[in-house]
Amino acid sequence: MAEEMSGIPEHEEFRTGARQWLRTVARPRAADGEWGSGSDSVAVFENWTEEQEREHTARVQEWERIRYDQGWSALTWEESYGGRGLPAYYEQLYRAEEAAFDVPQRPEIFPVTQALVAPAIAIWGTEEQKRRWLRPMLRTDELACQLFSETEAGSDLAAVRTRAVRDGDDWVLTGHKVWTSGARVATWGVAVCRTDPDVRKHAGITVFLVRMDAPGVTVRPIRQMTGGSSFNEVYLDGVTVPDTDRLGPVGEGWRVTLSVLAAERLDSGSLGLDNADRALDLAAHLPRPLTGGEQQRAADLHIRTLVQRLIGLRVTAALVAGREPGAEASVGKLYATETMRRTSDLVSELLGPSLVADTGEWGTYAWTEHLLGAPGYSIAGGTDEIQRTILAERVLGLPKEPAR
Ligand SMILES: Cc1cc2nc3c(=O)[nH]c(=O)nc-3n(C[C@H](O)[C@H](O)[C@H](O)COP(=O)(O)OP(=O)(O)OC[C@H]3O[C@@H](n4cnc5c(N)ncnc54)[C@H](O)[C@@H]3O)c2cc1C
Repeated sequence: MAEEMSGIPEHEEFRTGARQWLRTVARPRAADGEWGSGSDSVAVFENWTEEQEREHTARVQEWERIRYDQGWSALTWEESYGGRGLPAYYEQLYRAEEAAFDVPQRPEIFPVTQALVAPAIAIWGTEEQKRRWLRPMLRTDELACQLFSETEAGSDLAAVRTRAVRDGDDWVLTGHKVWTSGARVATWGVAVCRTDPDVRKHAGITVFLVRMDAPGVTVRPIRQMTGGSSFNEVYLDGVTVPDTDRLGPVGEGWRVTLSVLAAERLDSGSLGLDNADRALDLAAHLPRPLTGGEQQRAADLHIRTLVQRLIGLRVTAALVAGREPGAEASVGKLYATETMRRTSDLVSELLGPSLVADTGEWGTYAWTEHLLGAPGYSIAGGTDEIQRTILAERVLGLPKEPAR
């Protein structure tokens, strides 16, 4: 009732509207047919060449522009940014509908741009920056990657050594970033830099948006164990960045960084669910009876998927109540990476040798891409150990780790 009065559609009305719209622009997923036909990809990170990455990115951008232009993206954003001013959980309502349709799978750079970087700009950006960056990022005309980690600054991110030195109206950036997902297709890199080496490490940091095509930026792909290169090294050799591309105040970059990292945890809760469901389908379609052990593992995985979805609902409930879902988000990320691990265990047991020898049979060897990709998510976005530390300190109130 209150929602009706405020011009916010009822949930069912919204979901029906989303479904009807999706039918006009996408094919229902069920149309892919029976088990054993259609794509058997369960890749966690794609094995793309640079050309394939560019092609796929362009396809997803095309889809994202349709969504944005027709009012089904940026749902929670103000109208002035092309949004509809809906509460945060409407995004989840939309996603639940979209899952039933065959739409392009969004590689990491898309959620990074729309759900991590754009909200940080909304919090920390000047009015001019918001006008300049938000629409193109929400519409994905411009994509943004995270230039956070360095070889000596991962879990201990505040130890970054990439220097930014003031030069009149500009800054000059010099350093080396690593593990940058999507750097090959990004327009912008959000760089966490040291602007004052003489103060406490968290106080000497400032964040800049760097054009990835600026002179002095070099991107070198890193070969992952999946065979692909979804992440890269990025060298910044005397890159000039105008002060108007600084995000947040000088020396306040740690708080800007934390805004991005919190959004990253929030975005991770549904990781691995699709592949867990697919593994359970595999168990149901195996051309032999399951052993007792396999049944146990399958039942356990089924329970996990239910619990993970419930954790997702708790995150939604926190958002509905207007609370920042801090602890729920860390639990969600940690739980998701364990689901991915258990999915690997079940599939390994079910498929045995046909997992490691490519016989061309549908839905067998393809699982290597899950097995080799899944461990990456126990590291990306804050390792499992770091999530546990957050829970221990912030939820359980245990004594803090000694400061480094
Ligand atoms: C697939 C993937 C994509 C990524 N994408 C990006 C990206 O786009 N941009 C970006 O900037 N970075 C990215 N990263 C980097 C990622 O954020 C870091 O790898 C991560 O934060 C861990 O840092 P590290 O690799 O330096 O490991 P380290 O911090 O050196 O950790 C090594 C080990 O020590 C443990 N450890 C460290 N500190 C503690 C502690 N205090 N207590 C207990 N255990 C501890 C860790 O859990 C880990 O097991 C990506 C990583 C992966 C795997």
